[in-house]
Amino acid sequence: MSRGLPKQKPIEGVKQVIVVASGKGGVGKSTTAVNLALALAANDSCKFSEQRSTETGEGKSKAVGLLDVDVYGPSIPKMMNLKGNPELSQSNLMRPLLNYGIACMSMGFLVEETAPLVWRGLMVMSAIEKLLRQVDWGQLDYLVVDMPPGTGDVQLSVSQNIPISGAVIVSTPQDIALMDAHKGAEMFRKVHVPVLGLVQNMSVFQCPKCKHKTHIFGADGARRLARTLDLDILGDIPLHLNIREASDTGQPIVFSQPESDESWDLFCVFWEHVWRMH
Ligand code: ADP
Repeated sequence: MSRGLPKQKPIEGVKQVIVVASGKGGVGKSTTAVNLALALAANDSCKFSEQRSTETGEGKSKAVGLLDVDVYGPSIPKMMNLKGNPELSQSNLMRPLLNYGIACMSMGFLVEETAPLVWRGLMVMSAIEKLLRQVDWGQLDYLVVDMPPGTGDVQLSVSQNIPISGAVIVSTPQDIALMDAHKGAEMFRKVHVPVLGLVQNMSVFQCPKCKHKTHIFGADGARRLARTLDLDILGDIPLHLNIREASDTGQPIVFSQPESDESWDLFCVFWEHVWRMH
């Protein structure tokens, strides 16, 4: 670790932390985080798992957690179809809520869904501290962290307080989103968090009737940015109704429609880069 940075403390029981970040909101960061967690945890009956065992000789599913530190706009409860307050363990730590085999923790479990959070910076930081340090994750192979959009205090604090194996940056191909994604990548570099690469989301829309493809947000913006920053493009995810519907109904596509092309696109994003990270 370089001089001048605060001392990082691992999260108890967690082997690898992967953060999913974006410059702007609404570009698909939470969707990516949820489906990444599910792809990593893919159980033995799933075709992803079959591919993994063929290529690596390793068929066992992984223990995966999902931590939503997007305190102002937590999406994980809805996307993972989870509600309720976490129970406390004997040592007074919060127990994550569980669905689809993923242990989840979010500010959304601690406050009313519709209550606006009118918090000063210090309160936000103390909430983040609780989410980072007061959760009983048990033993996890991966903890996927859904960051808030942007490059503010929360992103810095998370990056500096826990050891992070890698950051995934999500952007649409639009200039306005890419500018902020660029800043995000630079921030991680400054705090010595390895950036695994960029995910280009909503890159193409194919009309379900005539099959014509339209690049609603532009075609190759994230690819250009990846070249500029000397980063990998982890994958292209199309703008697809199935992805939106699956997220909105709390049945993420990688879990609910693992055989679909969209699901495969999402899954492949991580196949090369995350699974083989060890
Ligand atoms: P962020 O976390 O960046 O704010 P979300 O993951 O919450 O973004 O996505 C914003 C909205 O866009 C959600 O309704 C989500 O279902 C939808 N969405 C994200 N990615 C796609 C996609 N590739 N195709 C269709 N809808 C998508």
